[in-house]
Amino acid sequence: MAQESQHMQPGSAPAQAFGFATRAVHAGEEVDLREGATGEVVAAIHLATTYARRKVAEPGRYEYVRLQNPTREALELKLASLENAQYGLAFSSGLAAETTLLLALLKAGDHIVAFDDLYGGTRRLFEQIFANFGIEASYVDATNAQLVENALKPATKMVWIESPTNPLLKLADIRAIAEITRRRGVALVVDNTFLSPCLQRPLDLGADVVVHSLTKYLGGHSDVLGGALLLNDKQLYERLQFNQNSTGAVLPPFDSYLTLRGLKTLALRMEQHGKNALAVARYLEKHPRVSRVLYPGLESHPQHALAKAQASGFGGVLSFDVKGTVADAENFLERLRLFTLAESLGGVESLIELPAQMTHVSVEKAEREKIGITDTLIRVSVGIEDVSDLIADLEQALG
Ligand SMILES: *Cc1c(COP(=O)(O)O)cnc(C)c1O
Repeated sequence: MAQESQHMQPGSAPAQAFGFATRAVHAGEEVDLREGATGEVVAAIHLATTYARRKVAEPGRYEYVRLQNPTREALELKLASLENAQYGLAFSSGLAAETTLLLALLKAGDHIVAFDDLYGGTRRLFEQIFANFGIEASYVDATNAQLVENALKPATKMVWIESPTNPLLKLADIRAIAEITRRRGVALVVDNTFLSPCLQRPLDLGADVVVHSLTKYLGGHSDVLGGALLLNDKQLYERLQFNQNSTGAVLPPFDSYLTLRGLKTLALRMEQHGKNALAVARYLEKHPRVSRVLYPGLESHPQHALAKAQASGFGGVLSFDVKGTVADAENFLERLRLFTLAESLGGVESLIELPAQMTHVSVEKAEREKIGITDTLIRVSVGIEDVSDLIADLEQALG
């Protein structure tokens, strides 16, 4: 690999022949052994905001950091390789990536069909920002692909799904929905934050654009905020690149470096997150104080077969209901010692939260109840600690 050297260009992607874990380590960071090159094995953090040119009319490969930056490019190449995408763009947050995509694909009068169980911030973006510009969203239970098709209107330009969803771990059949959107000429966007490309690759299943919050599993250490878009359509990529440069939501060089560093262990981390989450889910499922456990890896999950058919693992997030009142749920959460009571997910440490009062507080109570987010529902992001320690902590807090 090292001898191939050079910076891989988007689209050339010869490294696709390598396995996922190999690409997670090497893609975008091939060692350059050409005359005069450093031979460094890690992509450098390039901090210059502007680049010199020899002649007025002849800019070099780099001009200005908002437009291109070598560290960000290394990350974009790695991300594209991992999602089996031709093109990748890295943004200053997941929501910045979403905003740039929505601005590129939609205009006043357009309509979005979205999964009714959606990341709270995405729903807020649709309802409280884009609605002001004449872009309307309607929400359907996308566990049933037919309901997605039924919701399409002449003005629908985009279908937006997550699978598994947040926080109810419902699945959408990405292949079936992609077949519908392709037939109807609508763009399919999949937010792949929960499983990461390690476990699920929506572009291979027919999606048009993959969205990521790098802040979660891809960064993996709860210390960097970022987002990404991955896609195969060259024209759309060029438009997104133009829009990103025009609106400015790029990922800074330091954060690009941190994400590159985190990505190298993605395969290892996802394996451990998945093992630990399954063990915790099985433990909770048997506990008398727990009334239901939602995790696609459990045989009791209504879409367990679909989970196995479209992904190679089940991820590290699960949700469950404790019996009793909201106060009982709060007491349990506050008695935990190892699980940290905090929003977010996807880091090496285990986090736990109460969606109705934390991550999904911006979703109205009636809507929360309609889709199944009860006031006692608890969401867990299972980390990579020793699973015996995690279970012991749950045991003492459940009492
Ligand atoms: C966190 C998250 C986002 C938003 O990403 P930020 O990086 O926080 O802006 C979008 N979708 C999902 C599923 C998320 O978990």
